[in-house]
Amino acid sequence: MATEALIDLEKFLASEWDPDLTVGEWWEKLGVEGWSAPDWDPAWYGRGLSRSDGTSVALAIKRHRALPAPGGLGLMLAGPTIAAHGTDDQKRSYLRDIVTGQRSWCQLFSEPGAGSDLAGVSCSAVLDGDEWCINGQKVWTSAAQVCDMGMLLARTNPDVPKHQGLSWFAFEMRQPGVVVRALREMTGRSVFNEVFLDDAVAPVGALLGGRDRGWTVATTTLMNERAGLTAGGHSAGSLASAGQLAGDLARRAGDFTVSPKRRTGDALAYINDAAARVTELAVRMGRAEDPLVRQQLAHLYTLVNLGRYNGLRAKAGGSKAVPGHGNIDKLTMSDIGRRCRDLSLSLLGPTGTLYPYNKEQSIALAEQVGDFALVGETALFASAVSIFGGTDEIQRNILSERVLGLPKDPHDVKAVPFRDLPRNG
Ligand SMILES: Cc1cc2nc3c(=O)[nH]c(=O)nc-3n(C[C@H](O)[C@H](O)[C@H](O)COP(=O)(O)OP(=O)(O)OC[C@H]3O[C@@H](n4cnc5c(N)ncnc54)[C@H](O)[C@@H]3O)c2cc1C
Repeated sequence: MATEALIDLEKFLASEWDPDLTVGEWWEKLGVEGWSAPDWDPAWYGRGLSRSDGTSVALAIKRHRALPAPGGLGLMLAGPTIAAHGTDDQKRSYLRDIVTGQRSWCQLFSEPGAGSDLAGVSCSAVLDGDEWCINGQKVWTSAAQVCDMGMLLARTNPDVPKHQGLSWFAFEMRQPGVVVRALREMTGRSVFNEVFLDDAVAPVGALLGGRDRGWTVATTTLMNERAGLTAGGHSAGSLASAGQLAGDLARRAGDFTVSPKRRTGDALAYINDAAARVTELAVRMGRAEDPLVRQQLAHLYTLVNLGRYNGLRAKAGGSKAVPGHGNIDKLTMSDIGRRCRDLSLSLLGPTGTLYPYNKEQSIALAEQVGDFALVGETALFASAVSIFGGTDEIQRNILSERVLGLPKDPHDVKAVPFRDLPRNG
């Protein structure tokens, strides 16, 4: 990281970090000074640093044992999308609350009939005076129950081909006409939700990037999603939650700081740190000298580092440096997730199949296997990596069609108006 920026950051942390500040007060300082999103434009709460320097900033904040920048989809997806496509008024309205963690965001893209085929969303937005009236259903909306805002993809013109009639809205979640219903997952948790939109509204100023131009805007959101979720993209996230509803803003910031060495309780963090964590497990189980285990560990180590270096290369050279790199990274991450799951389970043996569904079970399991209680959770979570942000099959389709130039699907529907497309039911 550039020495000057590092010195500025160290000075800022030394003078401003105080564990007795509230989370909201600390994020206010961090965000306004440009340290929550240091790779953003300095005119809009950034410092104009590269993405890899942005990762170094996050790690330096953690090393200082200060509370990291707000996690969640605001900084990761909504902010970069608004910065790329928003008007100055929109940037003024939304970006400050994102870098200071005041408002949290969810992603209202997927629908029961549109996941991989995202351009097929049928949730409709109809202009009525100076606001849009929105009706439809979204699904798999992570954290919708605690988010203030949603990145909403809705159909504003059904008479043109499907990619051409969509718009992207900055959508207020807390309003009449929005019902969020939790879905229970096999982990016993409810991260996902169904979101029902029944005559919900969005003001005209909430439409980003132009009417019917939402596909281009959504592509920016998705590119940031891939970059953020791959092996090279995961940075030090905060344990405090952004937004008014999560209830953390008024709490003491110091209560959310943890040892910078390790973050437990997070399957994605386990997968991101797969090579080190699984090697540690092999040593602990007395299997580190087993040649077959060593071979699998070497494979895992190689993949993790390939992913990391690819991520760094992309951050250093911009997203166009290596065509398809985001898709390749996402596929690598899926592979790491599966290998991490399989090898961890085989090392831990039958204990790895235990999963705690309540606090007592959690304590009992942790007493037996310590940190490796996370193996069961990782095993349940690993399949998610090959689905979110676009499934493995979709990444391969993109690579084959757009990077390798292979023939496209013969039933290309790009010229057919959305209204005339065949649909189930
Ligand atoms: C952990 C997690 C968090 C998520 N969070 C969110 C969120 O916050 N907001 C949100 O909007 N969505 C979210 N999603 C939803 C996710 O984006 C979708 O699940 C994903 O895009 C796949 O869509 P689908 O579930 O409708 O499956 P489908 O599109 O129905 O696909 C089913 C199967 O068919 C295959 N398939 C489909 N089309 C093709 C094709 N053309 N060629 C080859 N194979 C194909 C797929 O690969 C898949 O295996 C989340 C998903 C997960 C797992």
